[in-house]
Amino acid sequence: MQSTTSGKRADTNDGLPTTRIVRVALPVPLPKSFDYAWPNRLSMPAEPVGCRVRVPFGRGEAIGVVLETAGESPHEKLKSVAAVLDDASIFDPALWRMLRWSAAYYHHPIGEVLAAALPARLRTGAATPALHEPGVAITASGRAALADGALRKGPGLAVLAALADGPLPLSVLCERFGPAGRAASTRLRRRNWVDACPLEPRTELRSTLTGPALNAPQQAAVEAIDAVRARYQAFLLDGVTGSGKTEIYLRAIEHAIERGRQALVLVPEIALTPQALKRYRERLRAPVLALHSGLSEGERARAWAQARAGDACIVLGTRSAIFSPLPNAGLIVVDEEHDDSYKQADGFRYHARDLALVRAKLLDVPIVLGSATPSLETLALVEGGRIERLVLNQRAAALARAPDVRLIDVREQRRIAGIGPTAMAALADALARGEQALVFRNRRGYAPVLACQTCEQWHGECSRCDHPMTLHRQAAQLVCHRCGARRPVPRKCPRCGSETLDARGIGTERIESALAGHFPEHAIIRIDRDSARSASRLDAALAHVERGAPAILIGTQLLAKGHDWPRLTLVVVVDADGALHSPDFRAPERLGQLLTQVAGRAGRGDRPGRVLVQTREPEHPFWRQWLTGGYANVAAAELDERRNSALPPYRYQALLSAEARNPQALADFFTAALALAETADASVARMGPVPAPIPRRAGHHRMQVLLESATRAALHTLLAAWLPSVFDLREARRVRWSIDVDPRDLY
Ligand code: ADP
Ligand code: ZN
Ligand code: ZN
Repeated sequence: MQSTTSGKRADTNDGLPTTRIVRVALPVPLPKSFDYAWPNRLSMPAEPVGCRVRVPFGRGEAIGVVLETAGESPHEKLKSVAAVLDDASIFDPALWRMLRWSAAYYHHPIGEVLAAALPARLRTGAATPALHEPGVAITASGRAALADGALRKGPGLAVLAALADGPLPLSVLCERFGPAGRAASTRLRRRNWVDACPLEPRTELRSTLTGPALNAPQQAAVEAIDAVRARYQAFLLDGVTGSGKTEIYLRAIEHAIERGRQALVLVPEIALTPQALKRYRERLRAPVLALHSGLSEGERARAWAQARAGDACIVLGTRSAIFSPLPNAGLIVVDEEHDDSYKQADGFRYHARDLALVRAKLLDVPIVLGSATPSLETLALVEGGRIERLVLNQRAAALARAPDVRLIDVREQRRIAGIGPTAMAALADALARGEQALVFRNRRGYAPVLACQTCEQWHGECSRCDHPMTLHRQAAQLVCHRCGARRPVPRKCPRCGSETLDARGIGTERIESALAGHFPEHAIIRIDRDSARSASRLDAALAHVERGAPAILIGTQLLAKGHDWPRLTLVVVVDADGALHSPDFRAPERLGQLLTQVAGRAGRGDRPGRVLVQTREPEHPFWRQWLTGGYANVAAAELDERRNSALPPYRYQALLSAEARNPQALADFFTAALALAETADASVARMGPVPAPIPRRAGHHRMQVLLESATRAALHTLLAAWLPSVFDLREARRVRWSIDVDPRDLY
């Protein structure tokens, strides 16, 4: 440890000299740690780094994590640590190193990074939860009392009778009998009729289904992964939709479990894919800890504790599951590695796939990135020899073939809610054969614009975002998809008073109502963020599809991911032309991924699949590229393009953004911030400040500066030298600003 100039040795409150000082990370948006004296009355853990401490902060107290110990501090009059909450680091070594690394890499305050990695309960200082659930069991004298009829009617008797069948968790007693149940169990305990007993965490019934025999490419992939075992090696499992990638994850995980190790599986989405979770639970002979937004804080903390205990298990979760403890990891899997939901869009803007690679390296274990449509970032790493590619280019199920994809020129077609006669006839055929169809439109609501036909002056617009509001007819509201603002739908034009308001454009709700009119006998099921809001409706909808009953599903990209519905044979893409003209350099990559994934839902069972893509621009070169060589073709062309135009992944970017109600405050912030970087490395290009692609949102003006460099090192050296002083700027206090390393959304 470097000793700091003019430092003072800490005098403790106890009046004894000490050399014990700790640097503590606190969950505040400042890129620094805080020094505290360790008082003699507190015994210090043998290895205090990584332990939580309670410390005085401001007018109150805060929970922080010890980053390091020190003999001296540059600060005088240190306050003392009030309490230590752990006797050893709460983070396992590889997790700790990954978190320290990511704070530095993403230039995000360490205190917030560490807080993000802990369940809320632990963040606020609760003890690490017991692995075992508190439970109650009946004793021999309790049984005797029950047999003798020693108890009269009442909660005590009910509880005792319930326990006669076996011990129960306290939480279950509370669920069944309410607070009276808890009180009764306390009384019964006093009479020695029941006893406390810790219970094994509730594990699901685990059947031991075995999977299908692997085909040759699958076998080769599993062997390649198994061959590296306990050392770092990254694989790209590049397999077309339905090629049996999940089957490979399952085998590789099974082998890790057999070796007594843990596996981490990241998925883009759990709530919408209960079927996928079920598959893991049925096949693996170890607890599958599913981490998702539906968990209560208590459940989350217990899952965390179970993972931390290190017993063989599978931790399966979305983005933030990358922060799970894994003291005994044997394998990491990132499914659908190209998915943008792995990038955290605000606060600590990490990318879970990139962190997974870092974590695997620190753990020295293999990692498998799987996708039918790999990201260009991953393909560039394959190209550079850093990731080994395993290819599966055929569907695995016996009769499943790649779907037949056709482009439909709809310029001359009369359309109903965007659907032309060719597609409508195909939908009717699919239903007549008792099959399922998916109509894809990546836009929720009824219509993106509500405008007045008479004056042609008025259209519904969000006054806080300067953006058209989407008509949601079922909710009878205009909704701003940028800030969430809602208002009732006007009956008359607010400008000219005529009742000629016209819904323009097509959203999923409009398609739903048109198809419901067209196929009144059939189930028409819309699945998007609006309909998914009601969990019970969503479950019912998914159950219908899973049963294989004929239906038309209408959905946004929520439906493009990960579903395996063998009776689904037709996919109709209503309109994807907008993406052909996006200014975003990632648009062709994303369009290729989205269309390939959506198309991949068709024909996964034993019946052939068809995909109809409607367009008004059949000559656009993108279509030829995608139709002739699929996503691989699009990706190869895009990689060339990115290399030639010096764009990511061949160039490194960071985005400094800020927003404020007051435009002057925003301008002042950028002026002051950029002045601090005046002398910085000229090899790092700076573009801006310019208005952000969404220049106003929820009443805030937004601007940004893009930084770009040919090397990661130059960019990070600049950021590391520059950003700490930006945090200190007076002008920074009047805006909300952020830095986004490897930004995904520039447009
Ligand atoms: P992916 O994850 O690549 O989309 P899945 O692992 O979900 O593919 O497999 C798609 C379908 O093929 C599933 O129904 C699965 O049970 C089946 N399948 C996978 N591997 C085989 C195999 N070797 N033999 C027969 N069916 C298989
Ligand atoms: Zn009008
Ligand atoms: Zn708005």
